[in-house]
Amino acid sequence: MVIKFPDKSKALKGLYCLAPFETAMIDEWGKVYVCGCDAWLPTPVGNINDEPIDVILNNALSKQIRSSIIDHSYTFCNEKSCKLIKNNELLSKSQLGKEYADIDNWKHKTSSDSLKRIFLAGDRTCNLSCPSCRTHVIKYHPSVGRDQTSKRDQLVDRFIKNLFSSPNSKLEEIVMSTSGELFASEVLLQVLEQANLENFPRCKLHIQTNGLLMKDRWDRLGQWKDRVGTVNLTADACDKEVYEKLRRGGRYDVLLENLQWFKEKKTNDNINFIMKMVVQRDNIHQIEDFYEFGKRYGANEVHYCRITDWKVMAPETFANVDILSDRHPDFEKANGILDAFKSKGYQDAKFIG
Ligand code: SF4
Ligand code: SF4
Repeated sequence: MVIKFPDKSKALKGLYCLAPFETAMIDEWGKVYVCGCDAWLPTPVGNINDEPIDVILNNALSKQIRSSIIDHSYTFCNEKSCKLIKNNELLSKSQLGKEYADIDNWKHKTSSDSLKRIFLAGDRTCNLSCPSCRTHVIKYHPSVGRDQTSKRDQLVDRFIKNLFSSPNSKLEEIVMSTSGELFASEVLLQVLEQANLENFPRCKLHIQTNGLLMKDRWDRLGQWKDRVGTVNLTADACDKEVYEKLRRGGRYDVLLENLQWFKEKKTNDNINFIMKMVVQRDNIHQIEDFYEFGKRYGANEVHYCRITDWKVMAPETFANVDILSDRHPDFEKANGILDAFKSKGYQDAKFIG
């Protein structure tokens, strides 16, 4: 389904976003988006279960989206949620570099050659069941039933054939997992095992994780162990009570054990380490303590984002935890806490939406 937003060509005249030229995000159902976040650009351009990624990235809809960047209308982009639009982080032409000197004619070219970033959900498997994300622990990909190993193998094959079979010397980043836990996902671990690294000489692996299985399963990254660029670990809290409530199924002592192990590893292997808090009613009071907690375990940056409504909680429950909504009764108090923390000016504390 194509979802359009108001024409923004007056407000965004002369400004560019390179995501639709360089990015493919594949969700757990195989749908492909040309932006790193489907809440920002919610129109899928195809499905890798139906067509190869090269065909999808060069179809009419993908080209229309790139054209909407070139004419600055950004009609496929949600200005209310996209962080780049909201924070004035789009680029002027002089910031784009040589590669994009001819960007205004780009719609006549293909984009698969310029693909630099793949965000791969792959699988919803996770060892936790955080209340905002799911109601119960999910162990398998939705299309793979219990014990159906052959279906899982088919899925791995599909990812390998569609995304990782031809060489791409421009590919810089693979981000896993955007919908579950990489270290719990047999599908994603097998994809990493089977992808031929020689095809992607510049590519780094960026891991999004809850961190609890990291120490025990790091070796499963196999050939990618030396190519990890970033670990982005969402912990949400820095004490046992709040942690075990918000990260349901997680044990605080196991988190600490993994953080301690990773602190040394990230230094030795030169891995960029981000600790993240999804800000909500139960952890807003820990914002500053969480920053110190992250720094204690070697985080290069500490990120904060507002909780997203994944339609898992009942509407009234979500409204109650979404304390950064201006409709929440404690919004002013919460905003005050946030502003007080922001006023400290920590350069390595980032608010990402
Ligand atoms: S939604 Fe934002 S990040 Fe995505 S393509 Fe549009 S401007 Fe770029
Ligand atoms: S750790 Fe992430 S993927 Fe797993 S349940 Fe929590 S929010 Fe969802």
